[in-house]
Amino acid sequence: MNYQELFHTLRYTQDLPDEGLAALLACLDTGVQEELHACAREVTQERFGKEVYLRGLVEWSNVCRNDCLYCGIRKSNLSLARYSLGADEVLRCADAVYGAGIRTVVIQGGENPAGALGLVPVVAEIRRRWPEMAITLSLGELPFGTYKALREAGADRYLLRHETATSAHYARLHPAGMSLEHRLACLDELRRLGFQVGMGMMAGSPYQSLEHLLADIRLIQRFGPEMIGIGPFVPQKDTPLGTFPAGDPALTLKLYSILRLMLPDSLIPSTTALATVLPDGCKKGILAGANVIMPNFTPAQVSGSYNLYNHKSRQELDTIKKDLASIGYAASASRGDYHKN
Ligand code: SAM
Repeated sequence: MNYQELFHTLRYTQDLPDEGLAALLACLDTGVQEELHACAREVTQERFGKEVYLRGLVEWSNVCRNDCLYCGIRKSNLSLARYSLGADEVLRCADAVYGAGIRTVVIQGGENPAGALGLVPVVAEIRRRWPEMAITLSLGELPFGTYKALREAGADRYLLRHETATSAHYARLHPAGMSLEHRLACLDELRRLGFQVGMGMMAGSPYQSLEHLLADIRLIQRFGPEMIGIGPFVPQKDTPLGTFPAGDPALTLKLYSILRLMLPDSLIPSTTALATVLPDGCKKGILAGANVIMPNFTPAQVSGSYNLYNHKSRQELDTIKKDLASIGYAASASRGDYHKN
């Protein structure tokens, strides 16, 4: 099959044999990549028009019990000043998100089970004050009871990247005691509780091979998440993997396009990590088939301490709106829930 046949097959059957996917992932021809993005863009526009969903991101806390080898907020990074926003601060951020006309707030933070339990009344209060606002959480692996309490308090969605679908690769990115098996069990629990679920991985993480990426794509295809979060790996100097090169933004864009064609209804953010490593990354992500952007509403005085990787950019609402207008897109005023077509 030539490349055009691959796009066509992927678009109309929403699948390809591994060799076809591998050929697309490995393709370095920028003309072909552009055709792939154009095909994904067409499918995105058929489903969502030229509207992009916004999610107001609140980086609630950088306190984390985990020690992921790539992540700047890992517990062994002693050079980081730790913070957690109080309930009032989170509510002020949610108010700012709502006031900006955005109808999803995302509360993200390091993995801290006690802190996450403390968020239950905060989630309930957001639900009470702004009944029509979607609440997304991204707080890592928590006990089932905590997920349940957060869901019952009114949370709608949960982002938990699987990070890599290959156990041996997972073990090279994480310390002993963390496992792919447990991560996937959490994803199953979240789904059972009725959350709209997001999964995903870094593009170009250390030791990642084409086979690993194929396994990631197949896992995502089997699970069928409502949201798919993918950004390039970006080194963070105070981590054990901080000397590895950043992931290739072109690979990230190809993954957006491939996954858009495989799961056309999914919600795919053009991520901060992509905007960090690629000039105009936010726009390029949208033009490759992403349909979500997460402007940052974390108070500026702590935002620098949510230091997942070097030179992390801050996606500001005004810039996002200008970027979207410059490519003929606009921000949607809706919550942007998942809908199966
Ligand atoms: N603690 C929650 C969790 O485990 O899902 C949410 C916060 S965690 C920092 C969010 C995501 O940041 C991770 O899933 C990971 O993929 C991404 N991340 C962490 N370090 C990164 C790095 N160096 N480069 C790119 N992405 C990174």
